[in-house]
Amino acid sequence: MHSPFSDRRKRVLARMPPNSAMLVGGRTVTRSHSDVDHRFRQESDLIYLTGFHEPDVIFLLRKGGDPETVLFLRDKDPERETWTGRRLGVAAAPEQLGIQRAYPIEEFAQELPALLDGIDELFYAFGQDSGFDSRVLGALHELQISERRGRRAPTRITDIRTLLHEERLIKDAEALRALREAVSVTCEAHIRAMKAAHGGMGEWEVESLIDATFRQAKGFPGYGTIVGGGVNATILHYVDNQNLLVEGALLLIDAGCEIDGFTADVTRTFPVGTKFTASQKRIYEWVLTVEKECIAMTRPGITIEDIHQHAVLRITEALLDLGLLQGQRDELIQSGAYKKFYMHRTSHWLGLDVHDVGRYTVLGKPRPLEANMVFTIEPGIYVAPTQEDAPEEFKGIGIRIEDDILVTATGHEVLTKKIPKETAELEALTARSS
Ligand code: MG
Ligand code: MG
Repeated sequence: MHSPFSDRRKRVLARMPPNSAMLVGGRTVTRSHSDVDHRFRQESDLIYLTGFHEPDVIFLLRKGGDPETVLFLRDKDPERETWTGRRLGVAAAPEQLGIQRAYPIEEFAQELPALLDGIDELFYAFGQDSGFDSRVLGALHELQISERRGRRAPTRITDIRTLLHEERLIKDAEALRALREAVSVTCEAHIRAMKAAHGGMGEWEVESLIDATFRQAKGFPGYGTIVGGGVNATILHYVDNQNLLVEGALLLIDAGCEIDGFTADVTRTFPVGTKFTASQKRIYEWVLTVEKECIAMTRPGITIEDIHQHAVLRITEALLDLGLLQGQRDELIQSGAYKKFYMHRTSHWLGLDVHDVGRYTVLGKPRPLEANMVFTIEPGIYVAPTQEDAPEEFKGIGIRIEDDILVTATGHEVLTKKIPKETAELEALTARSS
């Protein structure tokens, strides 16, 4: 059966050496308050390879094996399903998911030794789940002690990241479809928030409006929605969202919708219910300029490190221009003085995880961008109210602008380009007629 997932499995198999296997374990449902099931979110590697979202799943890929694809999953259980939802079940899984063989999850420990017998190299991520690790080690041990009887244990265990995560870094058509859909819902949510925000409104109300927009589109927040009014915008991972908005103060919203596992990651900063003040606008225009310059640099061959270095250079110039730093530009960069106001990196990979997998360096050097990689560009300037020697007019201002960028064969595409960020566009949405 042909599907985006079978295409992915084929590509991963093509990268695997002969006589190797890859084992990917899923998560189980976690509970809080003793008896409440959280919404389950499948492990990203499993979404990538199977598109299957049930808990308690293990997937095995055996290059050249018969069967080549094996899934362990929860079997049908009418009584349990009454409580916790429908299950696909072992009988329906091969047809539905296009895999060759399925077993009940309870049989994993028993079946695994035979499935790994004779395999030379096993791709597996040790260290993420000790219970799962010990079952894998148990199978390896069982094979090792029965080698006299002609069985053979894998001799090489390789971290899954070297192979699977490199494949995930280059987005395929299905990944880009899901990302574009996630971006479009995220756009709608940000615009709704810009229009709705006003003095006296709770940050939590803005959060609920954004998250509701995601849910209405059958999506979820891809990470905890950040709604930081006024000085809260200077706290990088502010997720309390407990304060009231103040008319005329800035509001920083960092929110992205997740669709079919893939998430957008977008930040906008705008004045609540009115226009920018002159001081807000000076910092905002600087951040926007730097962000646009970084985006303009993006093309195959450039590295994320090049982009970050450019952001650091230009933000340091901004900080000098604004009177937030004094001294020689290059010395301020050298000494890291800019980090008082710009303390995070400019970019990260984006995909099934908001900080997506894939290496940032290759052989110790920053890795050149390639077509179909997706990453964020998100410079900012944050002047905490406690920055004693900062000019009074800038204290408490935090601004970040974040877009999601697709690298194309010749340059880039800003996936999030429809989400307003020019000051005039923002003011047209936020300023109330008075
Ligand atoms: Mg973000
Ligand atoms: Mg980000």
